[in-house]
Amino acid sequence: MRKPILIANWKMNGSLHSNQALLVRMLAKLRPFRKTIDMAICPPFPYLFQVRDLLGYTGIALGAQNASRATSGAHTGEVSATMLHEMGCRYVLVGHSERRALYHESDDDVAARFQQVLSAGLIPVMCVGETLEEREQGWTMKVVQRQLQMVIDQCGMSGLAGSIVAYEPVWAIGTGRTATPEQVADTHRAIRQFLENCETGAGQSVRIVYGGSVKAANAAALFSSPEVDGGLIGGASLQADEFSNIGAAL
Ligand code: PEP
Repeated sequence: MRKPILIANWKMNGSLHSNQALLVRMLAKLRPFRKTIDMAICPPFPYLFQVRDLLGYTGIALGAQNASRATSGAHTGEVSATMLHEMGCRYVLVGHSERRALYHESDDDVAARFQQVLSAGLIPVMCVGETLEEREQGWTMKVVQRQLQMVIDQCGMSGLAGSIVAYEPVWAIGTGRTATPEQVADTHRAIRQFLENCETGAGQSVRIVYGGSVKAANAAALFSSPEVDGGLIGGASLQADEFSNIGAAL
């Protein structure tokens, strides 16, 4: 039985003042779901400390939006997975499409970051997904398998089996355009089959969440398939009502 998980990716948004106001409202609204679903908030790095304190003993986990591929040293501007562990993080997003597209993170970079996250004792949330052009060419699974295979090659199947996979079609992230529930279910099923082919049992045990313009209004439909174990939520995680109503749909 896979426990659903709801992950908030705040991206590069927030301030000390707005985070406090948002979390106070959000925590009150999320209270009813705390036992039935896992939840995590991934704020920008400078706010990890603040968010960790506000989450306190709610059981809602702290996450980060990325981690360096290096362990320490001369890597100005980078943040290591060990530092994130020290700050109280439990999850780290790896390979988000904005990182791949805007900051040129290759599959190799993503796998190296994934390895660092694992080594620090944290849970990677491995983001995979195709562009619109790739979907239209019928290459969705070819792309997703390539992204997953690089992690398997560098970190082993046991590494991937200990992670969460986030299927996020690039064309649906921050665009207001969502995949259909059928597209989501089909792709999740295909990812599960791929994982199962790599290691018996992995297809059934790994949580696969969907991300891409999820809102309260479409969450129930997108999460309706048993293949979907939760959501990675960007824009809508900045609104307490929207985010908690998405949680109610899980
Ligand atoms: C994301 O940033 O991972 C995401 C899914 O964003 P949005 O919900 O805004 O599409």
